[in-house]
Amino acid sequence: MHFCKSLEALISALKCLPGVGPKTAERMSFHLLERERAGALYLADAIKEALATVKHCEQCRMLTDEALCHFCLDKKRDQNILCIVENPADVLVLEQSGCYRGIYFVLGGHLSPLDGIGPDEIGISEFLHFLTSHALHEIIIATNSTVEGEATAYYIAEQIKDKNITLTRIAQGVPRGGELAFVDGGTLTEALSRRVPFEAA
Ligand SMILES: [Zn+2]
Repeated sequence: MHFCKSLEALISALKCLPGVGPKTAERMSFHLLERERAGALYLADAIKEALATVKHCEQCRMLTDEALCHFCLDKKRDQNILCIVENPADVLVLEQSGCYRGIYFVLGGHLSPLDGIGPDEIGISEFLHFLTSHALHEIIIATNSTVEGEATAYYIAEQIKDKNITLTRIAQGVPRGGELAFVDGGTLTEALSRRVPFEAA
């Protein structure tokens, strides 16, 4: 199918979004041009504005349009416990769970030497600097449960092993509501090896 140049450019631009392939990009483009021109303009302005103003928090590397993000500025949060995550979206998931009230550090990815992503690219020096200005009691490493996420967790552990801070890793195991028959072998092995004492209520 041959589209005019501007339409081709729009379709091609939309394909940079995660989960959007050529067909979806085409559908989105037609929708914006045929039915949602005002919304398209609003979207274009919002993207431009966000690109111009949103950057990384100087302290925790979360996305923000101020020097420090609202998590770092919120003094009601527990300043002695830090959770390290790979991406800003992970912070949102933890916040939505409502089970964590400490502070964060966002790596912005994981170690991946083959892709040229080393410690500098995931902010390890900023993280070590962060430690000098905070009296932390505990650091929770909440990187993803992937090969790269695990390697990143071990690398971070190595960097802080001489500091007097309790280091923990989020547990892996059988998901809530999950049935054993549908859990993969690796997850089940992990769940068994990290079993916890259980008592009658
Ligand atoms: Zn911050």
